Amino acid sequence: MMNILKIIEEHAAKTPQAKAFVMPSGSITYEELWTYSGRVAGWLAGLPLPEGQPIPVYGHKNIWQPVCFLACVRSGHAYVPLDTNMPAGRISDILETVNSPVVFATEALPEGIVIPDAAKEFVVPDIAGIAKAAGVLSAEAISAIAEKPANPATAEDRWNRKEDVHYIIFTSGSTGKPKGVEVTTGNLEAYLGWSVGLVDEKAGVFLNQAPFSFDLSVMDTWTGLASGSAVVCLTHDMVDDPAARAAYLKDKGITYWVSTPSFADLCLGDPSFGPDLLPDLKTILFCGEPLKKITVERLMNRFPDAAIINTYGPTETTVCVTAVPMTRDMLSDEKPLPVGFVKPGTGIYAMDEEGKRLPAGDRGELIITGDTVAKGYYNNPEKTAAAFFTDGEGNRAYHTGDLGFVTEEGMVYCAGRADSQIKLHGYRIELGDIEKNLMQIEGVKGAAAIPEKKDGEIYGIAACILQAPGTDTSYARRKAIRNALAERVPAYMVPKRVAFFESFPMTNNGKLDRKALEAMF
Ligand code: AMP
Repeated sequence: MMNILKIIEEHAAKTPQAKAFVMPSGSITYEELWTYSGRVAGWLAGLPLPEGQPIPVYGHKNIWQPVCFLACVRSGHAYVPLDTNMPAGRISDILETVNSPVVFATEALPEGIVIPDAAKEFVVPDIAGIAKAAGVLSAEAISAIAEKPANPATAEDRWNRKEDVHYIIFTSGSTGKPKGVEVTTGNLEAYLGWSVGLVDEKAGVFLNQAPFSFDLSVMDTWTGLASGSAVVCLTHDMVDDPAARAAYLKDKGITYWVSTPSFADLCLGDPSFGPDLLPDLKTILFCGEPLKKITVERLMNRFPDAAIINTYGPTETTVCVTAVPMTRDMLSDEKPLPVGFVKPGTGIYAMDEEGKRLPAGDRGELIITGDTVAKGYYNNPEKTAAAFFTDGEGNRAYHTGDLGFVTEEGMVYCAGRADSQIKLHGYRIELGDIEKNLMQIEGVKGAAAIPEKKDGEIYGIAACILQAPGTDTSYARRKAIRNALAERVPAYMVPKRVAFFESFPMTNNGKLDRKALEAMF
């Protein structure tokens, strides 16, 4: 079985000068990545940290993030990637949940962050006289450790074992608090053993669009490292700025494109997005949300020589577990685009509401089993027990909440959700998460977050607010609600539309009638 750290060590020895990460703020070679992460790992290993303590790594597309990720797993710790697109409230919640004595802040933490007790009390040994607030380490402090040859790297026996947690990615949770998905090193290696095959196990240049806090980034980052490739990272600013994006991407030699379909749609709006900009492009890999036929058709026309691969899977089963190249025949088929065949080591089947496995072709909830099913949710036995189980054949299994079916030939199709989780611009959002946070705002008596759809596709969210009759429903109040919510949830979860109600429509059995509300938008 694969040993991902050994593989990276070998790349660092064989191709030391090859670029591992290219970011707008700088790049890092395999040799530097290995050396720096070894020293930071050695430094971590010398601290009195609780065994297996997960360590938060905050920032956005700078070289110290991958250095810290590797340092954590080379010293027996999981890393918890946190991005600058998360608001202070959510970061504080995660820091509190993880309660790590050490926090790597590769960029300045936003105003208003509540430092967890464990870090507040932690006395970090002197690092080149750099001032530190409690256990929070700045990029300056991290680089001082990484660049000091006196710091010895950890020995292999300190590295994560297969059963250790490699990373914890927090996703939107219906209770209003994010859930931390614990993916082990064994899960990741089982995934990588397959994902390197998606790019023919050849070193190339990956595009990284997603922030490191979104598991889509694992596809480019870790498959990139496993294959000895360079990973070229886009920043949030570039995602929104076509001219800056094109100027940056030109001459980067991108061979493997990894993004959400929404991002490809955005790029397709730019006429320069084509082989002139990306002459080396071989493979386009999609994951994270339904892929539309129109997107595939437009991409086939722009990049006639590139393979377009649809993949599917939730964070809880490690990035994705199915894949299939798109063909022109699929575009003319009346069925939606398939999400692919399952990887070796993974099983997938549809289950009915009574928990019975359905025959091929029947629609039900998709269950994923096998070697990439995560350990569970961090410190959350109830949520873990509700979503993860051992199936009748003794396999570790996960309830995806996705509706779909599997054909006789093993081709998997997705067909919507069984719950109120949605995808907007590729981001996973629990509508309940928005609702619970809206309810915290003063004057809000009830709240419903409703997807706004056009031709069956979600393009936005509307916040329906229940307020006492005669209370403020002005533009200023709408804005105040959106601002208050933005302090608690990431910007992509803040509804663009806010509507006020004195009462909500109810179903016959007295529940909120979501369908009736949806029909109003
Ligand atoms: P995340 O955990 O953020 O990767 O989100 C996982 C969810 O995204 C899945 O459970 C699906 O609902 C959806 N999803 C991911 N990939 C696809 C795909 N190729 N087609 C349709 N839905 C997808």
